[in-house]
Amino acid sequence: MNIHEYQARRILARHGIPVPEAEVAATAEEAAGAAERFGGPVVVKAQVHAGGRGKAGGVKLAATSAEARGSAEAILGMEIKGIEVRRVLVAPAEDIASEAYVGIVLDRARQADTIMVSSEGGVDIEEVAATMPEAIRKVAVDPRYGLLAHQAALLGHHLYDDPRAARQASSIIAKLYEAYRASGATLAEINPMIVNPAGEVKAIDAKMNIDDNALFRLPEIAALRDTGAENPAEVRAREAELSYIQLDGNVGCCVNGAGLAMATMDLVKYYGGEPANFLDIGGSSNPDKVVAALALITEDPNVNSILFNIFGGITRCDDVANGIVEATSRMELGVPITIRLTGTNEEEGVAILASQGFEAMVDMDRAVETAVRQGATRGFATDGGR
Ligand code: GDP
Ligand code: MN
Repeated sequence: MNIHEYQARRILARHGIPVPEAEVAATAEEAAGAAERFGGPVVVKAQVHAGGRGKAGGVKLAATSAEARGSAEAILGMEIKGIEVRRVLVAPAEDIASEAYVGIVLDRARQADTIMVSSEGGVDIEEVAATMPEAIRKVAVDPRYGLLAHQAALLGHHLYDDPRAARQASSIIAKLYEAYRASGATLAEINPMIVNPAGEVKAIDAKMNIDDNALFRLPEIAALRDTGAENPAEVRAREAELSYIQLDGNVGCCVNGAGLAMATMDLVKYYGGEPANFLDIGGSSNPDKVVAALALITEDPNVNSILFNIFGGITRCDDVANGIVEATSRMELGVPITIRLTGTNEEEGVAILASQGFEAMVDMDRAVETAVRQGATRGFATDGGR
């Protein structure tokens, strides 16, 4: 789950990180009011689940409250990476002497939270990583001990020669790690962390991603979800208890089990197609889930071929077959559907589908190849795969 900058700033502040105070505004009027209350120059920032807002024109400095009103007018309603801006954050503008980067990610390859710092902050950290990886210092946190004092000290001193700044940075890094752990985060970034002319180190931007699987035990964090800022199809999928991720291919995939869903996407690519989505309908064979899944898939205008791939274990093939029959009687698919069923009650499932005029296959390769071919003949450019 993504949260907004203003929400992440509050979490950081609660953990004792120096973050300038800020207000959130939904109208230019409110933004001007906030600027008025702060008095001096302010920064007006788009609140969307996307990085690179600065480059996109979503971060503006304003010297007066009248200017803040104009900045908010320009930013509200603007689209950043396809997401409409509905709110802005207004904060007193900071004077910046230097900008650094601090980030914590769950590094699955290292099986550890990894803290990264760079004195090349403010700009695209991905670009720094690509063009001068030596500028980024990384430290893995041993999950048995947590972040150790000497590790935080090392990172702080990597960022700043001035010992006062280094000490402040070390303390911010340790608090960021606490905030990250306490929030069930898989990512926490401060970019930029600044030093102002008075030598104070502060966080003036904050980004956090939360592990969806941690939300059940963190109701306060779960309440931060802003469904209005999320992909509408993914929101509906979550409500229907489906794991769904929209992609940009043409073969709509409906699979039971995450591993099989991944294998199916691999095979679609192998046969020269592009998956339109990852979709795991889970272990149950509730026909309502099949209906919800088909509704999501067919709503995607890129989908011109649908592929069902069901491995019956606890899930029974006859239940899924009934779900497909029910779903297709409730809605017009408009695109060809290829069905592969195997496992528990496979014969019954195939018979149910056959009685309704659907052909079901048992061989996964044949089914995927068929689905890809049907999509390709319907005029979606494929890259030839193999
Ligand atoms: P992002 O582009 O989405 O990461 O948004 P940021 O909050 O990181 O802002 C982008 C850039 O705007 C920063 O790197 C700063 O250079 C600048 N900026 C943001 N806030 C302030 C501020 O309070 N004062 C000044 N002088 N510049 C700011
Ligand atoms: Mn930033």
